[in-house]
Amino acid sequence: MKNIMFDVILDRDGTLNVDTGYVFRVSDFSFTPGCVQALQALRDADARLSIVTGQSGIARGKYTEADMHAFNAYLVEQLHASGIKVAAIAFCSHHPKVSDCDCRKPKTGMLQQIEQKLGGIDWKSAWGIGDKPADSEMIIAMGGRAVLLRPGPHNAPTGKVYWREDDSELAGLLLDKRNFVASNIREAVEIILEHQN
Ligand SMILES: [Mg+2]
Ligand SMILES: [Zn+2]
Repeated sequence: MKNIMFDVILDRDGTLNVDTGYVFRVSDFSFTPGCVQALQALRDADARLSIVTGQSGIARGKYTEADMHAFNAYLVEQLHASGIKVAAIAFCSHHPKVSDCDCRKPKTGMLQQIEQKLGGIDWKSAWGIGDKPADSEMIIAMGGRAVLLRPGPHNAPTGKVYWREDDSELAGLLLDKRNFVASNIREAVEIILEHQN
């Protein structure tokens, strides 16, 4: 068995699959462009891949936890068919308004769950890829590095804008040279492979 060189924590909607808005039907599943090839490149660099996904649609009554698991299982199956292994998945099903949730991004509960499942993660060498600032804040809070994906028709066809590069709250994150912004997951993985080590 090959050694794990580093962990990559992947957001799901808008990062791995196209985010059509509270997506849960397998029939609505599609990979973002270049996703499979990008993950294969990470695999070939001996990265270990995990998924953390905010699924407040469950608390909002838009779909059930079983729907989400079916969607996740389909995603994992598709990746497996391309030779890509998912080491662990964590999700937050809570409503943003509940107070007893320690897992909604940018809180780090899901990353701690992943760490527990995998028996340890070296966060200093870990990366997170996601399409919202909360994805980046979460991995940075653990000591890891972030690549924030720009939203666009390729990953977020609803046109909902979650962040802008001139948002003042993002300045700190984007000024830190350990973190990056990329246009898509393929570019994100190029950045990671270039800056790893
Ligand atoms: Mg997302
Ligand atoms: Zn939660």
